[in-house]
Amino acid sequence: MKEVSLPIEPVPKKRGDNSAEVFPKCGICYSVVDETYTCKECGVEFCKDCGNPMALVCTNCEDEEEEEKPKKAKK
Ligand SMILES: [Zn+2]
Ligand SMILES: [Zn+2]
Repeated sequence: MKEVSLPIEPVPKKRGDNSAEVFPKCGICYSVVDETYTCKECGVEFCKDCGNPMALVCTNCEDEEEEEKPKKAKK
């Protein structure tokens, strides 16, 4: 089966449109990145450098979580 791949056409920029934010912005290091993740703890948008995308926790909440990690129950 062949898939027809459409050529990527450049999207014309519209001034005055509401699509000003094309790229998401990290709420921790404030740099514009390709992709951000929403922290499940505090809801901040963070980039992959500012937290754990797998666990969906930002670096701030990651520290807290580590401190509160219970180590008594061992399975
Ligand atoms: Zn960041
Ligand atoms: Zn957080």
